Amino acid sequence: MPFDFQGKHVTVAGLGVSGVPAAKVLHGLGARVTVVNDGDDERARAQAADLEALGVTVRLGDGATLPEGTELIVTAPGWKPDKPLFTAAHEAGVPVWGDVELAWRLRRPDAAPWLAVTGTNGKTTTVQMLASILKAAGLRTAAVGNIGVSLLDAVTGDEEYDVLAVELSSYQLHWAPSLRAHSAVVLNLAPDHLDWHGSMEAYAADKGRIYEGNRIACVYNVADKATEDLVREADVEEGCRAVGFTLGAPAPSQLGVVDGILVDRAFVENRQKNAQELAEVSDVNPPAPHNIANALAAAGLARAFGVSAAAVRDGLRAFTPDAHRIAHVADVDGVAYVDDSKATNTHATEASLAAYESIVWIAGGLAKGATFDELVTGAAKRLRGAVLIGADRALIREALARHAPEVPVVDLDRTDTGAMLQAVQEAQRLARPGDTVLLAPACASMDMFTNYNKRGDAFAEAVRELGA
Ligand code: ADP
Repeated sequence: MPFDFQGKHVTVAGLGVSGVPAAKVLHGLGARVTVVNDGDDERARAQAADLEALGVTVRLGDGATLPEGTELIVTAPGWKPDKPLFTAAHEAGVPVWGDVELAWRLRRPDAAPWLAVTGTNGKTTTVQMLASILKAAGLRTAAVGNIGVSLLDAVTGDEEYDVLAVELSSYQLHWAPSLRAHSAVVLNLAPDHLDWHGSMEAYAADKGRIYEGNRIACVYNVADKATEDLVREADVEEGCRAVGFTLGAPAPSQLGVVDGILVDRAFVENRQKNAQELAEVSDVNPPAPHNIANALAAAGLARAFGVSAAAVRDGLRAFTPDAHRIAHVADVDGVAYVDDSKATNTHATEASLAAYESIVWIAGGLAKGATFDELVTGAAKRLRGAVLIGADRALIREALARHAPEVPVVDLDRTDTGAMLQAVQEAQRLARPGDTVLLAPACASMDMFTNYNKRGDAFAEAVRELGA
């Protein structure tokens, strides 16, 4: 039974990417909408004016007080659960939904099923690979979530879909209690956003919600036991299967790799004996280990939906990664320059460093509380040298001194935007033919750049100057 919003007092928490469209949709459904927002800046005022013109009430500069008569809160996913607004809602027995929950509740009864993807790293890539595979199978689909089409648009717009490839963050999952995917994957689980969730256990539990109520398959990472544990703990529909993916040879009910071929031993007849070839490792772009894992995860969800092996191969071949994710920028004097500016945490950087044999590593920025000992220990043998930039570079320098004292390090005492050119020049000096100069900062970019895109662009620009 669809939720009836007519005349309901709904409070939307937070203007912005999800709040404004949510307020508009709810207003259109006859709800009496009040938007509350902490900030009161120029942008917020412009958005507020836009909404007020429609008849929505907006309260700027006070996101803490629960408006009188609220029957439901629809929150921006980033709002922390310990905010006073939610404490007040809890005490008053008012439910809180996030943007995903709202989209889920607004689906039409015959709406397209969701194939859902979460994980600490690789979500966007996997969702895009999945959408590419589904398209190759002739299905009407879209990659929705953080990228491309918004979930709300996908479920309330005029476009018809057969199936949706949905990226979900841990925040969104936290606020999506009734979401039930057709099938879902948790790609990996490493500490991230712990200040928001409160603990690793709470973070894992929120990620694990993605498996709740799955109908066909819960896909997990064989190399990351925590993801398998989450499957075991999930309450799923009768008959729903646990399907693993691995970079090794697959056991029954797994997808994996044999002699450079991606194979499926889960969605085949007689999986004790049979396996189905899906694609070659070289069909995956780039064929770095973590990305092959992403491809297997995407293939697992697509196969759960009944997609053919040929469509998996065609979809993977048609896929090109987004910018700044292990993007090959250029070869200069036999050295490859690779931009993985999106590696903003140590887990992503670890994957990136594992993809190359001999690396001059450009790293640094805002560490967000991370430590680098494990990362450096794992990568030490592959490092030709390191060039450090950004506010928290000393943390990486100290880890290098402790675990890889023989690796030459250039510490650039600069946090201005122009430092990237110098960093790339220093990296060129350290590199030998056959090496890879890899920008994989393991840190956020905001100390030096507007965002990771700008950081990657500055790297590419600097590389072009080397070649000029
Ligand atoms: P997300 O949407 O989860 O942030 P992306 O696909 O945008 O993921 O990739 C983010 C970063 O994580 C990139 O730097 C990429 O190289 C790295 N990455 C991608 N897939 C994986 C994976 N399976 N394991 C570890 N790191 C990964």
